[in-house]
Amino acid sequence: MARAPLDLEAMAAGVRARTPAWVARAITLVESTRADHQAEAQQLLTMLTPDAGRSHRIGISGVPGVGKSTFIDALGSDLTAAGHRVAVLAVDPSSTRSRGSILGDKTRMARLAADPAAYVRPSPTAGTLGGVAKATREAIVVVEAAGYDIVIVETVGVGQSETTVADMVDTFLLLALARTGDQLQGIKKGILEIADVIAVNKADGPHEADAKRAARELAGALRLIGGSPAAWTTPVLTCSGAAGTGVAEVWAQLTAHRKTLEENGDLTRRRNDQQISWMWAMARDAVLSRFLADSDVRSAAGTAEQQIRDGSLTPAQAVERLLAAYGRLDPR
Ligand code: GDP
Repeated sequence: MARAPLDLEAMAAGVRARTPAWVARAITLVESTRADHQAEAQQLLTMLTPDAGRSHRIGISGVPGVGKSTFIDALGSDLTAAGHRVAVLAVDPSSTRSRGSILGDKTRMARLAADPAAYVRPSPTAGTLGGVAKATREAIVVVEAAGYDIVIVETVGVGQSETTVADMVDTFLLLALARTGDQLQGIKKGILEIADVIAVNKADGPHEADAKRAARELAGALRLIGGSPAAWTTPVLTCSGAAGTGVAEVWAQLTAHRKTLEENGDLTRRRNDQQISWMWAMARDAVLSRFLADSDVRSAAGTAEQQIRDGSLTPAQAVERLLAAYGRLDPR
């Protein structure tokens, strides 16, 4: 449906004035996949960028049930009590596939959701992981321009979502659980390599001893992997989001990590590298979607698929045909 062009100046001013309704509208705009909305969103981001970039961007991941929302509710409330403004964004790839979103429950983070110094936004629900990631990166710019100095991006350990989030934050926290028998169960080796801080959660009551043991074993496993850069050794702590214990210690490590990045000049380098890899990820998505939507490619694909079934064409030969069909009318 057509609508009048947005007053982007008013929207940018509303975001800078920290008006929650404007922040919400601006994020809705960057989440929209419509071409005209996207053009407006990019203009808005250009206006907001000078006011962005000053937050500590923190990724938090862990399997469903590890206690992410309870932990973020506790940490976020401590931070707002200490005078910070906290935005929580989410990257939930399950929300793009079905309505059964893992992170979508409205009752999550009840304290933060009611806290005027916090802004909690559920995951965008349209598009691919790439689309959700793009919207979230752009939402980071919006909330930073709105003066949130701590931005938490939450994700579940599904598919590529952890690396996607690690690639948009300064510090990546993995929440883990102690399991009797096999302490490393459910933790992919790849995620140990991208975690800057690891906390074994639910270290309370009868689980405390198990959690401490799991933390020691994880620290040992990390030493074997040796993934951390020389300037930073990934610490493994224990905490309980529900009891609030250990949360301050986790926060101290998150800020220590950020300080190390700043002191080495790695913060600017990391963010610039992220922007460049983001550019290439978007370029790949854009080229692929143009290629797949191209009418010459689609008609060549119809023939090629039939020939693959006949056995008269190999898949590799078919790819050459598709590329030739795509290139034929260049430039388009
Ligand atoms: P999420 O799916 O990772 O966001 O996990 P939730 O925060 O929703 O918590 C999942 C379940 O674990 C809920 O039943 C919580 O009450 C419980 N839980 C969360 N944090 C803790 C904790 O620190 N200790 C214990 N014992 N239970 C917790």
